[in-house]
Amino acid sequence: MSSSISIAAAVLTVKVYPRGTTRLKSGHVWVYRSDIVSADGVESGSMVRVTDHRGKALGAALYSSSSQIALRMISDEAVADFPALLRHRIAKAIDYRERIVHNTDAYRVIFSEGDFLPGLIVDRYNDILSLQILTQAMDAALVRAAILSELTDRLHPESIFERVDPRVRELESLPARASELLQGDKTAATVTMNGIQFRYDAMEGQKTGSFLDQRENYFAAAHYAHGNALDVFCYQGGFALHLAPRCSQVTGVDSSRAALEVADQNAALNQKHLGGKEIEWIEANAFDLLKDYATSNHHYDTIVLDPPAFAKSKRDLDAALRGYKELNLRALKMLRPGGILVTCSCSYHVSQGDFLEMLASAALDAHRTLRLIEVRGQSKDHPVLLSVPETAYLTCVIASVSE
Ligand code: SAH
Repeated sequence: MSSSISIAAAVLTVKVYPRGTTRLKSGHVWVYRSDIVSADGVESGSMVRVTDHRGKALGAALYSSSSQIALRMISDEAVADFPALLRHRIAKAIDYRERIVHNTDAYRVIFSEGDFLPGLIVDRYNDILSLQILTQAMDAALVRAAILSELTDRLHPESIFERVDPRVRELESLPARASELLQGDKTAATVTMNGIQFRYDAMEGQKTGSFLDQRENYFAAAHYAHGNALDVFCYQGGFALHLAPRCSQVTGVDSSRAALEVADQNAALNQKHLGGKEIEWIEANAFDLLKDYATSNHHYDTIVLDPPAFAKSKRDLDAALRGYKELNLRALKMLRPGGILVTCSCSYHVSQGDFLEMLASAALDAHRTLRLIEVRGQSKDHPVLLSVPETAYLTCVIASVSE
């Protein structure tokens, strides 16, 4: 079981074919199953020594017996004590946030590969930590214990909640587990982003509770927002609440009633900030609503589009781009001259280039000229490793429609 991880003597070697070696030498940290020579006798979730096909050492990795990503590198040197390395990396990730995160008590503390901790995600929501384990190696009992103890020593949370994605556990052939408190008993808190308050409930919501990756984009979008605003795919109101102080009227649209109920509570929490302004929340299918509005002469000065990931894999790319184009085309038709479009994609498979091309084509079809104001990514607490393109998944374009 997990004990193999801490016993250096038990570390086995996995050889990698030249294609995998080339990938590692370019700075990537994944080796696909088809690129390993053999993993006979290697226990699921254990740490292994990695060499090229001739036996030259390439470093240490965590092995998954089930994922297509068989190896995730953790070091280009031998690692004698994985839990100690883990503690060190967690401490470094926390230090990094102290330098780059401002104006919030809700941010990602650990972003898997982006923090050299593949398979581990930790979000902070005020005094509650939300943790997600994505790989066999991070699920081992000794590893979990080291993670919890370092997080507790460094951040002193009131509680730590584990958010389980059943699909991920299934893909990693890990036994089913419930989402639950691992430490403490607090499950709800109020968090603040850019001076705006949000309710957080560990037991509810999507992702680990909110879309922390958009936090800096909320703030950026608010600079340019004006007039009548429509926040499409608004979830718990992240963009809408940030836009409201700058706009005369804001409407949020989402298909999830539960999300809109929280959005409404969030609006109530920020009454003072909103200066008594009411935000209208509409429960609807955004595709239907936009189609309806675009053909019935609804006009806006600011529109936000932040749909769920359309491309879950490379195969879905064309369909995803068609989906984005349809939404953007409709939004562009509804924007008044001088209007602001804030349009996002959180599909890694849709590159920034693909997305801009789609947007140019939508603008052409809508007979509008767009000027780019900002092309943005995910918040800095979701660090992008330049040599691991998969760590960059969010695009947020802010553009102005010509007068
Ligand atoms: N902008 C939000 C995050 C949006 S996530 C924020 O910053 O917090 C995507 C949202 O789209 C989810 O809230 C989900 O409920 C909603 N959604 C998914 N499919 C939808 C559809 N067809 N119509 C409307 N909303 C939809």
